[in-house]
Amino acid sequence: MDPIYVPHLLKARDRTRTFDIETVFPELETLTPVRGSVQVKHCTTYLEVQGKAEAIVTLTCDRCLQHYNHRLTVDAEELIWLEDPTEWGDEELLEREVSVEDLVENLAPDGHFEPRTWLYEQVCLALPQRQICDEACAGIPVDVQQETANPLRDRRWAALAKLKHQLAPEDA
Ligand SMILES: [Zn+2]
Repeated sequence: MDPIYVPHLLKARDRTRTFDIETVFPELETLTPVRGSVQVKHCTTYLEVQGKAEAIVTLTCDRCLQHYNHRLTVDAEELIWLEDPTEWGDEELLEREVSVEDLVENLAPDGHFEPRTWLYEQVCLALPQRQICDEACAGIPVDVQQETANPLRDRRWAALAKLKHQLAPEDA
C-alpha cells in the first residue's frame, strides 16, 4: 500500500479517504491476516485518523511460555498535527491548551501518511500487557519432590533454615 501524499486529501471527497487493509506484518505473529480499514480526514491543521481491525495473534504466555491464540480487536482514533510542534512558542502552546507531550504525533503538511504503518502501531498498542494463556494457567510445572529433597540448594530456603536456627538453636 502506497503512503498518501497529505495535500492530495484536500481534493478527495469530504477530504476523506478510506483504505481497506488486509495484511500480514512480518514483525507480528498472527494466525490470520490483519483485516480492517483506516479512514483519514484532512481537517486543515490536523489529520483525523480512525481505524478498525481484527486479527488472531499468536502470543507467548508469561506463566508457562506456551504459545496461544488471542483475538485482537482494534478500534482507534488519533489526531495527527500537520505541523512541527517543536517550533511552537510557549504562547502558542498555551493558546492551544496542549502540552508538547500530547503532540507526539505530527506530520509535515506536505508529508506522507502511511495507513498500514499507522494500523500496525494501533495493533501493537492493543496487545494485552499481561499475556496469560488461561486464567487457570498454573505456569511451568515444578518438580516438587526435587525441591524438598535439596532444600538448601535454593538461597531462599537457606535463609529460612538460618532463621529457624536462630529462633530455636537447640534443634540444630
Ligand atoms: Zn500459560
